[in-house]
Amino acid sequence: MSAPHIPQEQYAAVVEKTGGQSGAKAVLYKKIPVQKPGPDEVLVNVKYSGVCHTDLHAMLGDWPIPAKLPLVGGHEGAGIVVARGELVKDVQIGDHAGIKWLNGSCLSCSYCNNMDEPLCGEALLSGYTVDGSFQQYAIAKAAHVARIPRECDLEAVAPVLCAGITVYKGLKESGAKPGQSVAIVGAGGGLGTFAIQYAKAMGLNVIAIDGGAEKKGVCEKLGASTFVDFQSSKDLVAEVRAASSDRLGPHAVLLVAVHEKPFQQATRYVRARGTVVCIGLPANATISAPVFDTVVRMVNIKGSYVGNRADTAEALEFYRRGLIKVPFKTVGLSQLQDVYKLMSEGQIAGRYVVDTSK
Ligand code: NAD
Ligand code: ZN
Repeated sequence: MSAPHIPQEQYAAVVEKTGGQSGAKAVLYKKIPVQKPGPDEVLVNVKYSGVCHTDLHAMLGDWPIPAKLPLVGGHEGAGIVVARGELVKDVQIGDHAGIKWLNGSCLSCSYCNNMDEPLCGEALLSGYTVDGSFQQYAIAKAAHVARIPRECDLEAVAPVLCAGITVYKGLKESGAKPGQSVAIVGAGGGLGTFAIQYAKAMGLNVIAIDGGAEKKGVCEKLGASTFVDFQSSKDLVAEVRAASSDRLGPHAVLLVAVHEKPFQQATRYVRARGTVVCIGLPANATISAPVFDTVVRMVNIKGSYVGNRADTAEALEFYRRGLIKVPFKTVGLSQLQDVYKLMSEGQIAGRYVVDTSK
């Protein structure tokens, strides 16, 4: 079954070669063929896509697993279903849908059976192992495509599809309860700004950590009770501890920065029995903590990786209810390279969204 007017060709942002270049020619804006969905897949006419720091990692090739090449990046794509394979029954032509990082998984391994599909060994990753949302028509497995409620604006909801889902899941993984405090490290960036809003909606007290006046302003406007500037702080560990209401440190830490140093600091200011959740993926980084301190203070250190289909629906529901409002700027898909430049310089407060029609 398919809707009319699907073109043969479309505009896309294509990375042909990875490997450390962030110069003007690293992403090519050009026409490529529109693919046809397989029996269990849908074709989404992507209207808007958020730009995640993961897309920059993919372009630079700085992670230990290689991305496909040539690569169409992007995994925060919001659009309209225009075609579906013959096995697809529960997604209709015309539905609003999201291309997220988890493009597909086997749905039958023990991880998939236990709602941990991001851990599936057969997982397909949008904008990494399969082409993603930096194109006008993108494919995903129908079982995994995000169901976007009709009343949600496709432009503003796009970043929820990775940034929103990921931090919502991370906050759940932290075990922090209403009234407790959470430190968000990298709070002024894409994931961080969403984390402030979700944390606030979940009744948590937010200590935001990032650098510079613009990020400070954004974090405070979004609801952070304290901002600690990592660039100017003389004793970051002491400042973060002092920012929790009883000065014992935050109950949880969400690490969404793209540098190793904050990963080393977090176990020192988290409260005894607190939880440090690693989400950011700086290249070649390790996390370490003194064993004695970790044991006698009963500190938890864990990772959190995107979210499952239930987390996706829940994160979208917070958005639909009007609880999540994050600043974003929209530019044409043809300007994606400029967004990567700003991102690599740490200059983006909130999220950039690309409009695939320009
Ligand atoms: P971003 O560039 O928008 O934000 C990163 C922020 O970290 C910036 O505001 C920057 O100023 C800040 N920062 C840098 N150094 C800091 C420090 N020492 N202390 C505090 N803040 C600091 O990036 P993003 O799109 O939010 O992505 C963040 C990271 O999360 C990336 O590595 C990305 O690949 C990763 N990610 C992980 C998952 C997952 O499932 N685990 C999902 C999506 C993204
Ligand atoms: Zn992402």
